Amino acid sequence: MRPTGKLHLGHLVGALENWVSLQHEYQNYHLIADYHALTTNPDTEEIHRNSIDMLMDWLAAGIDPKLSPMFRQSQIKEHSELHLIFSMLVTTARLERNPTLKEQVRDLEMENISYGHLGYPVLQAADILLYKGEVVPVGEDQLPHIEITREIARRFNAQYKKVFPEPEGRITKFARLPGLDGKRMSKSVGNTILLSDSPETISKKLKTALTDPQKVRKGDPGRPDICLVFSYHTKFSSAEVPEIRKGCESGKLGCVDCKLNCSNHVAEALAPLREKRVYFETHPEEVSHILEEGELKARTVARHTMGEVHAAMRIG
Ligand code: SF4
Repeated sequence: MRPTGKLHLGHLVGALENWVSLQHEYQNYHLIADYHALTTNPDTEEIHRNSIDMLMDWLAAGIDPKLSPMFRQSQIKEHSELHLIFSMLVTTARLERNPTLKEQVRDLEMENISYGHLGYPVLQAADILLYKGEVVPVGEDQLPHIEITREIARRFNAQYKKVFPEPEGRITKFARLPGLDGKRMSKSVGNTILLSDSPETISKKLKTALTDPQKVRKGDPGRPDICLVFSYHTKFSSAEVPEIRKGCESGKLGCVDCKLNCSNHVAEALAPLREKRVYFETHPEEVSHILEEGELKARTVARHTMGEVHAAMRIG
């Protein structure tokens, strides 16, 4: 995950909950992609701050450092070396056809992209294959990158010697939670609820959330299936969903009360995370130690893989 700062509900539902459950099934590796962040943000102070913020949110959400190493990409130099080797195994035409890149260029209204940005999926292939990743939990938009990783692994194995598995992308179980305006939840758009938000902030933010525009006042019948608040209820107030649906459709339930109820449920779900986060915020030395330990474990695996790469290529 790229370090973009404090994480939000979309990250929790779209990724973190899945990672937490997968850590009991697989050996997981959690990469803070700080070099990747440089493709769109040159401010390394900010990237560092964001990395620590993200790490604390991972820990608060339940990633267990004893099971799953968490580490910064920039601290494991083997990522850069494998990226360089892989960059010889993929053409620029292939990278230019990458649909995720095309979308990003369009969304960010970029006129020119850097050489490093074009090669983003090549560095990502190194991130995955350095740990011989077999399963990569991703959003649908990342599947084309996994395909490039598979192609690179195949090409390396055919050219030199079989070193790498061909990883599979596993789409996250839950649908993404939309942002408060109904669009994709994103920090840059400002439509998020952060995992670290206080109950008061959650309530204030949810007051602005998009509902059924035809339901203007209490008494008007509403359409929960097009209401954003209702989609939050399905995630955070599941036991009350039939009752909320009935109340909304009949008009008996007003949006003000419905939003307040929703805020309470979201705040309740986030309370244990917030508590854990406060603990880590007040114990920075523990956070640094977790990072150091994670980097040590990751480096050991990465060095071992690079040993196999050097032997297969008879170079390096
Ligand atoms: S009552 Fe609730 S579910 Fe219905 S439109 Fe209002 S906020 Fe949405």
